[in-house]
Amino acid sequence: MSKPFEKPSILIIDDTPDSITILNQILQQEYRVLFALNGSKGLSIARQQKPDLILLDVSMPEMDGYQVCRELKANPDTRDIPVIFVTARDQDDDHEMGFRLGAVDYLTKPVRPSTVKVRVKNQLQLRRSEELILHQALYDSLTNLPNRSLSMDRLRYAITNDSRDLLKTALLFIDLDNFKKINDTLGHDAGDQLLKETAARLNRCVRRGDTVGRLGGDEFIIILSALEHTVDAKLVADNIMRLFAKPVKISHMELLITVSIGISFSPDDSRDYKQLLVNADTAMYQSKQSGRNNYHLFNGEMNQTVMRRMTLENHLHHALEKNEFCVYYQPLIETTSRNIIGAEALIRWDNPQLGRVSPDEFIGIAEQIGIIEQLGVYVLQQACHFFKDLTGSDGQPLTIAVNVSPQQFRQNHLPDLVDNILKETGLEPEQLELEVTEGLLLGSQSNIKDALLALRQLGVHFSMDDFGTGYSSLSYLREFPFSIIKIDRSFISDLQNKPEDQVLVTAAIAMAHALDMKVIAEGVETEFQLQFLKEKQCDICQGYLFSKPVDGDNFKQLLTQQEK
Ligand code: C2E
Ligand code: MG
Ligand code: MG
Repeated sequence: MSKPFEKPSILIIDDTPDSITILNQILQQEYRVLFALNGSKGLSIARQQKPDLILLDVSMPEMDGYQVCRELKANPDTRDIPVIFVTARDQDDDHEMGFRLGAVDYLTKPVRPSTVKVRVKNQLQLRRSEELILHQALYDSLTNLPNRSLSMDRLRYAITNDSRDLLKTALLFIDLDNFKKINDTLGHDAGDQLLKETAARLNRCVRRGDTVGRLGGDEFIIILSALEHTVDAKLVADNIMRLFAKPVKISHMELLITVSIGISFSPDDSRDYKQLLVNADTAMYQSKQSGRNNYHLFNGEMNQTVMRRMTLENHLHHALEKNEFCVYYQPLIETTSRNIIGAEALIRWDNPQLGRVSPDEFIGIAEQIGIIEQLGVYVLQQACHFFKDLTGSDGQPLTIAVNVSPQQFRQNHLPDLVDNILKETGLEPEQLELEVTEGLLLGSQSNIKDALLALRQLGVHFSMDDFGTGYSSLSYLREFPFSIIKIDRSFISDLQNKPEDQVLVTAAIAMAHALDMKVIAEGVETEFQLQFLKEKQCDICQGYLFSKPVDGDNFKQLLTQQEK
C-alpha cells in the first residue's frame, strides 16, 4: 500500500494488451500503474505489492476475473484491496455477480477516460477515509501508539503464535512515576509532551515486530514476542531504566522522569491475555511499593499481597464517611500506685467485608493515599471530646495520648488545628500528649521543630513513641521538647529472658530521668515485667496485664471499678 506523499498504485489485470495500454494512458500521470496479463500473475503481484486498487477484467482464459476476485478476497493480505471490474460484459447478472464477490464498482468497455478517472479517484478516497477511521479506532491520537484495543489484540496474537512455537511472550507494564504531579503542576501540555517523549523512548528499546502500546493515561505496555528466556525481557527493562535516567526537556525545564515496570510471561504466568495483563500490573504495583523506579517479575505470592493492599486501599477511601472508624482507649497505669492516670487513643477500623483491620496494616496505607490528616483530625476530636470530663480516682484530670503521624506535620497548620480542637472540646492542653516517632525528626526540618515548639507552648506534651527501635538518638531528645519516652514493646516482651533488654531498659529509664523526662513502658503483660519496671522506677506502664485497648464505655467502666 502506498505511503503518504507517494503516488497510489493501481494494478490492471487484463489479458488484452490494448486494454492495458488504454487504461495505462488514462491513469499513469496520477498513479503508479502495475499490470498482469493473466489471473495468476495478477494474484501474485497483488500479494507482493499490495496495490491501492485493482482494475480487473472478467473474461480471461484459464482463470476468469470472478475467480481472481474470489481468491483476492480469501487472502487476508489482499482482501481489503478495492477491486473494480472492467469488462465488455454489460448484463445485470454480470454486475450482480461482480458486487457479490466483493467488487466495489463496475466499468464497461469501451471505457471513457473521464469516467475511469472519477471512479478510481472516488474509490481511493473512500479507502483513505476508511483507513483513517480505522487508524483512529486502533491508535492513540497523542502518541500514535497502538491503543488498548489493538495492543490487546496483538498480545492475544503473540501468545497464540509463540506458544505454538514453544516460545515465551513477555508483557511489560510500564507506568510513569509521579505523572499526576507533573500534569497538575506544569499543566496538560507538559503532560502531553512527556507522554510523547515516553512513547519515543519506549520505541527505542524494542526490536522491529515488538509492540509498544498505550493503555491510557500514563500506562504503557510492551509486548516482546518469541523469547527463549525470561532474561531477554529483563534486558529490555534494564534498557528502559537506562534510557529514562536521562532528563527529559519539557517547557524549558529538565525533568527527571522514572518509571515503574512489572513483567509477566506467557505461558509461565498465564496463557490468557487478560490475566497476563493483570499479572504484569500486579508486578508493576510491587515496583511502586518498593520505592518506584525499578522493575519486578510477577510471582504468585505477589498477587495476594497486592490484592489485599488494593482492597484495603479501595475501602479505606470511603471508611471515614461510612463511619467505620472508632477510637479505643488503653489505660496508662502509674507503676507505683497501679492507678489509671490516662489512656492512649488507638484507632480501630471495622469494615463490613474485611472485618477488623489492624492499624499496623492500614495506617501506612492511609499515609500513602493521603487520608491520614483526616484520620488524625477524627481521632483527636474523638479523644479530646471523650476525655474532657473524665477524671482519675484522685479527681485529677486524665492524660490522653494521641498518635500523630509525620505527615500531619507536613501541612503547616497542625498547631492551629490542635488549638482549635482543644478550644472546641474544652480539653486542657496539659491533658493532651502527642505521640510521635523518631522518623518525624530525621532531617530535622525547621518547620517541624517550629510546630513542636508552638504546640509545646500551648501546653501540649510530646512523647517519643517506640523508643529503641529507631536511632534512639539522644540529641533528638535534647533538641526537641519531649516530656516522655515510650519504651517499645519489643524490649519489654522478653525482659525475663534477655539480659541485654534489661540493660537497655534500665539505661533508657536512667537517661530519661536525667533529662527530666518520664518513661512509659509499652506492652507490659506479666507481673515479672511490672516488678522489674517498678524496681527501675519506670513511671508509667501500659499493656495487657492491666487492660487491652477498649471502647469508650468499657474504659469508663475501668475507671469506676478502680474507684471502688
Ligand atoms: P503504638 O502507638 O506503639 O501503640 C501500641 C500498640 O501496642 C497498640 O497496637 C496496642 O494495642 C499494642 N499493645 C499495647 N499493649 C500491649 C501488650 O501488652 N501486648 C501486645 N502484644 N500489644 C500491646 P495497635 O492498637 O494495633 O496499634 C498499632 C500501631 O498503629 C500503634 O502503635 C500506632 O503506631 C498506630 N496507630 C494506632 N492508632 C493510631 C492513630 O490514631 N493514628 C496514628 N497515626 N497511628 C495510630
Ligand atoms: Mg503510640
Ligand atoms: Mg508504641
